[in-house]
Amino acid sequence: MIVVMQQGASEEQVRRVAERLERAGFGIHISRGVERTLIGAVGDKRLTATLAVEAMEGVDRVVPILQPFKQVSREFKPEPSVVRVRGVPVGGEEVVVIAGPCSVESREQILATARAVKAAGARLLRGGAFKPRTSPYSFQGLELEGLKLLAEAREETGLPVVTEVTDPRLVDVVARHADVLQIGARNMQNYQLLREVGQASRPVLLKRGMASTVEEWLMAAEYIVAAGNRQLILCERGIRTFEPATRFTLDLGAVAVARHLSHLPILVDPSHAAGKWRWVGALARAGLAVGADGLIVEVHPRPEEALSDGPQSLNLERFGQLMAELSALARAMGRTLGPAAEAPGAGAGAAVAQGGSLGRPAASAG
Ligand code: PEP
Ligand code: MN
Repeated sequence: MIVVMQQGASEEQVRRVAERLERAGFGIHISRGVERTLIGAVGDKRLTATLAVEAMEGVDRVVPILQPFKQVSREFKPEPSVVRVRGVPVGGEEVVVIAGPCSVESREQILATARAVKAAGARLLRGGAFKPRTSPYSFQGLELEGLKLLAEAREETGLPVVTEVTDPRLVDVVARHADVLQIGARNMQNYQLLREVGQASRPVLLKRGMASTVEEWLMAAEYIVAAGNRQLILCERGIRTFEPATRFTLDLGAVAVARHLSHLPILVDPSHAAGKWRWVGALARAGLAVGADGLIVEVHPRPEEALSDGPQSLNLERFGQLMAELSALARAMGRTLGPAAEAPGAGAGAAVAQGGSLGRPAASAG
């Protein structure tokens, strides 16, 4: 439920209501708007009546949260959330690009990629160490060795690292080496894993399942937040449709819907949706244009030799070109891209989108 405080309610009145709800076992979040303060509360709604919160000083009214997902909804928290990854803000004005290989394959490969994507303006490094492969005979990742190489790449470049965790028993070891725990599309509804990362002290990147609805995706996010972890980033990576021309169908509409329904930051993964490097640029630009807070892109120094997802990986040169285009687009949308990506003359993209506020929506707009 949402407790709407009266206009001009005092801090003391807000505190008393929040304390009463917390003592009764509700999870709470306070949103201080220009005119009113809202207190989002999640718990057993039968309790609300017995608490008679509506009768408390400074309370205007109590309204139920209508969506099945509670803490991740904009009803609960109208203002957008910003998740900080070692100081890099995801979900703010800056558009954040995460780049790196599908899998960590060797020291040379991950270090060369990390240096190049950093120089091009990427803010975080990606790389899989535990790989959820469709075939048991495909390369399964370097596992612990891969985690160590990612940590080494972070030491050298300063880029925080994002890597997938595929099993609840691996959450501790992955969290010890990585900065963001990625939940892959194939595990979006692995509730034991969601609960486990919900107890971790690292931000989580939750990919949408390839056959999941937006509501199921947000319910999966709710598991993580309900377990205690509010540092959560959503990622649209394409869904299964009848169309085989791309590997998956990038569901841009879902990005618009999810950012309307939820305060969580949302990224787009153009690589897994495209399945082929040729379409990655167009989908990346479309992702930014629809309002994503950033992108996660597969990049490999020699895609033709990659042990996984080579066909959809950009080589270093193509990634550099894409970053210059994205920088112009971000600027046209009133946002920024990492400082290193500022390319001279990139302002030409200003014609792409004019008029209206295309940046992150404030409160429940968008
Ligand atoms: C990946 O990021 O390499 C990956 C396996 O992604 P997804 O879970 O979206 O398929
Ligand atoms: Mn991949």
